[in-house]
Parts: sequence; structure tokens; C-alpha cells
Amino acid sequence: MRTNKLFESKEDITSENRPSRLEAENAVKTLIRWAGDNPSREGLVDTPERVVRSYEEFFSGYKVCPKSLLERTFEEVGGYDEIVLLRNIRFESHCEHHMVPIIGCVHIAYLPKKRIVGISKLARLVEAFSKRLQIQEKMTADIALTINEVLSPKGVAVVIEGTHQCMTTRGVHKAGVTMVTSQMLGAFRDDPSTRREFLSMIGNPSSSASSFG
Ligand SMILES: [Zn+2]
Repeated sequence: MRTNKLFESKEDITSENRPSRLEAENAVKTLIRWAGDNPSREGLVDTPERVVRSYEEFFSGYKVCPKSLLERTFEEVGGYDEIVLLRNIRFESHCEHHMVPIIGCVHIAYLPKKRIVGISKLARLVEAFSKRLQIQEKMTADIALTINEVLSPKGVAVVIEGTHQCMTTRGVHKAGVTMVTSQMLGAFRDDPSTRREFLSMIGNPSSSASSFG
């Protein structure tokens, strides 16, 4: 089971072995020189600092523990035992192979057993995983497994539609291609009618994602 591997990335970098801001800025300067430009010219002189600041935002997910985001749950579900769905959660991530953006949307559904969670927490869970270096398949599984572990619902379904700039702006240059991944657990995996209901609630994934770029 990959659950126990979920949060290991947080432990890999410690405050002792994390490079300094200056080291990070110097690395950007090296890349600028390697691209063939002069990092000291006027237009580029503040670029390393800005890139490093951007990285703080792009990769802010490493500072967040996804599991603890969901820990404040509500036991009172008022007899509600149908699907809870959050649809079209926009995400921006970076592919771990090329470090270029993956942009798209996430649909999350769960079938509560006893506990529910504030819907903004589900959106923050997406942020916690997307603001890291990612592959879409892993992000899909990690979101589903975290919800499953913390809420212990009857089932979880996660569908992600993403456009990978490593495919649209480089390499094969195929614009308009969307990758769709899904992870179904519990009732969404075992019960075809629950799964069908979820899929009809999110609509046709490829049509809602065509505008991402
Ligand atoms: Zn890539």
C-alpha cells in the first residue's frame, strides 16, 4: 500500500540540508547563462530573485501536511448519505520531469459514512498536492488515499483533467491534449451504479477541460 509513502517528501528536505536563498538565486543565474544570456544585463538583474520568489509560491505545498488539513471534521451529517461532490477545482502544478506547468481541474467526490469535511478543505488538499513537483497519476492517487484515510468514507472518487505544457510547448508539441486520470475507492470502485452516478455528475471530462492551456 502506498499510503505510508504519502508524506515522505516532507521529510526529505530538512532545515539543515535545504539550500540557501542565495544558492537558489545563483542556480537561476547559471541557467540563464546556460541558455545563452547575460544575467547581469539590466532586464535580467532581478530575475533570479523573482524566480526564487515564484518558486516559493509554485512549491508551497511542501510546507503543508495534507492529512492535517482534513483532520477537523464534522460528525453531524444530518442523515445525509449521498455523494458529496466538488467539481472543477482548478489546479496549477509542475511536472516533475520537466518542471513546466500542468494546468487543469480536479473533481472530488466521497460518500460519507459518519464524517464530513468543510468543502474548502478539499480545495486546500488539492493545493497541498499540486503545489509540488508532480506527476498527475500520483497526485490523483494521493488525493484519494488521503481522503480515504482521514474521513473513512464509504467511497472516494477523484478525477483529474490536466494539460501538460511539457507536451504542448515542447517535445511533441500537441496542443489541446488533455490527460484524464481517475482513482476510485470503496463504493465508487465496487458499485457500478455509484460510479455511474459520479461520472454523470461530473459530465464529460474532456469537454470541460478543453479551455485549459
Ligand atoms: Zn513533463
